[in-house]
Amino acid sequence: MTANSESGASAEAAQALARLEASLRDCRGCPLCEGRTQVVFGAGDAQADLMFVGEGPGFNEDKQGEPFVGQAGKLLTELLEEVGLTRQEVYIGNVVKCRPPENRDPAPQEIEACSPFLMQQISIIRPRVICTLGRFATRLLAETEQSMTAVHGKAKQVRLAGVDTLIFPVFHPAAALYARTNRDVLVDDFAKLRVLLQRGTEALNEAGGRSIESEQSPAADVRPGNTSTGGGTREERAQPTEQLPLW
Ligand code: URA
Repeated sequence: MTANSESGASAEAAQALARLEASLRDCRGCPLCEGRTQVVFGAGDAQADLMFVGEGPGFNEDKQGEPFVGQAGKLLTELLEEVGLTRQEVYIGNVVKCRPPENRDPAPQEIEACSPFLMQQISIIRPRVICTLGRFATRLLAETEQSMTAVHGKAKQVRLAGVDTLIFPVFHPAAALYARTNRDVLVDDFAKLRVLLQRGTEALNEAGGRSIESEQSPAADVRPGNTSTGGGTREERAQPTEQLPLW
């Protein structure tokens, strides 16, 4: 792809997302519309290699119209920075786009009403890896009833909305706000996520399917001998030679 056609594709993707966002501004597809300040559509690179999917907007997100801008969002930003990524390089969305009252769990019918729009986002962005934040996104996108304890930090190959991608579940950052051990698990899983972005399916125990390696990976080059990453301590735990569990 030439630089021009690449930027053309990126502009097209951004426009497609903007059209979808505009079409949802007055959405009344489920009861969550009654209590919301605004629809929180999603934010980031319209052609990101890495997409995050959380549960649903909270108080701050509902007010500001952006996903993950509260305390959990601050932690997400820190975790990204620890593996050399910025929020602008990834895409961040949610299972439901309107705030559930009192931050309750989204109800099955609300998830059902909203998930087609998440699928449309996935079909536009075509992420190589989708990192699901917590059980709601993991259940929906990996179609599993397994616990987060069983599946976090492991990759699953799936086809979603016509896109071959890898689901990589991690605990929801909110679960790590007040528990140091949960934060450590998240940090380790983000180091693995970086390896997955670098090496794609080759990093998996049973390599198969299309390679997700990218010429323009959003993560810095962490191959042995490369010193341009500025080092980092946590990420050294998950070296690129490490094989990640396929789930
Ligand atoms: N928690 C989520 O799951 N999503 C947000 O956008 C914010 C907090």
